[in-house]
Amino acid sequence: MSDCLFCKIVAGEIPSDRVYEDDKMIVFKDINPQADVHLLAIPRAHIESLNEVSEEHDEIMAHMIRQLPRLAKEQGLDDGFRTIINTGKGGGQIIFHLHMHLLGGNKLPGFH
Ligand code: AMP
Ligand code: ZN
Repeated sequence: MSDCLFCKIVAGEIPSDRVYEDDKMIVFKDINPQADVHLLAIPRAHIESLNEVSEEHDEIMAHMIRQLPRLAKEQGLDDGFRTIINTGKGGGQIIFHLHMHLLGGNKLPGFH
């Protein structure tokens, strides 16, 4: 999708602070962090939202979810972390390229 911000980040056309990447996904720091640690995990392939996820995405979805605990520990979140996926306008989704928010640390609301 040529007009998709996160596709441009995948392509390297827009800079991002990447902390992990492989053949299926990339993970980078959110530009407007809502917690001490705030990462975004996205598939390299353009999937608009959870609404568009089907059986063909089972492998990528499982792969992405399996990376989260490892990434959280790498960020020093030994106590745990929060994962959020906003879906659609009503769910607060602003960027329509599927992404998993990984949040943690002292500034996380409702944590302490
Ligand atoms: P959502 O509301 O779930 O669609 O979240 C979109 C997230 O993308 C927000 O937390 C933004 O701060 C973040 N964001 C927007 N543009 C960028 C960017 N260029 N690099 C990193 N994060 C971004
Ligand atoms: Zn995209």
